[in-house]
Amino acid sequence: MIARQLTYFAAREKDSDRRCDIEAGMAKLLAARVAWSNADNALQIHGGNGYAMEYPVSRVLCDARILNIFEGAAEIQAQVVCRGLIEGRN
Ligand SMILES: Cc1cc2nc3c(=O)[nH]c(=O)nc-3n(C[C@H](O)[C@H](O)[C@H](O)COP(=O)(O)OP(=O)(O)OC[C@H]3O[C@@H](n4cnc5c(N)ncnc54)[C@H](O)[C@@H]3O)c2cc1C
Repeated sequence: MIARQLTYFAAREKDSDRRCDIEAGMAKLLAARVAWSNADNALQIHGGNGYAMEYPVSRVLCDARILNIFEGAAEIQAQVVCRGLIEGRN
């Protein structure tokens, strides 16, 4: 819920022609971590079967992992957020 609301807030700022790099960076960083954590928990619930390629949850874990890399890796999002906050843009 927090990740979703952060994303909506960033989108509303963008729609209003205001800068949203800090909020968008926070949303991407948090949502990618939440997705990874949820996928990891989902696989744990499935036990050993969850690791097998025959089970869709193994693919979910793989897909969740890339979210921290493409469209702005986690470290880069963190830098965008930190730079913006240190420069007092928010
Ligand atoms: C399935 C998939 C689809 C993709 N689709 C597209 C697409 O449609 N369009 C597109 O433009 N690109 C696309 N990409 C590329 C994607 O955007 C890049 O993989 C992503 O930007 C990361 O760059 P990189 O792989 O070169 O990693 P690198 O930049 O080499 O980074 C490697 C690691 O070093 C870290 N790192 C790098 N620089 C710093 C730094 N200054 N400080 C701290 N850590 C740092 C990164 O966070 C990462 O963990 C896609 C990638 C994948 C896997």
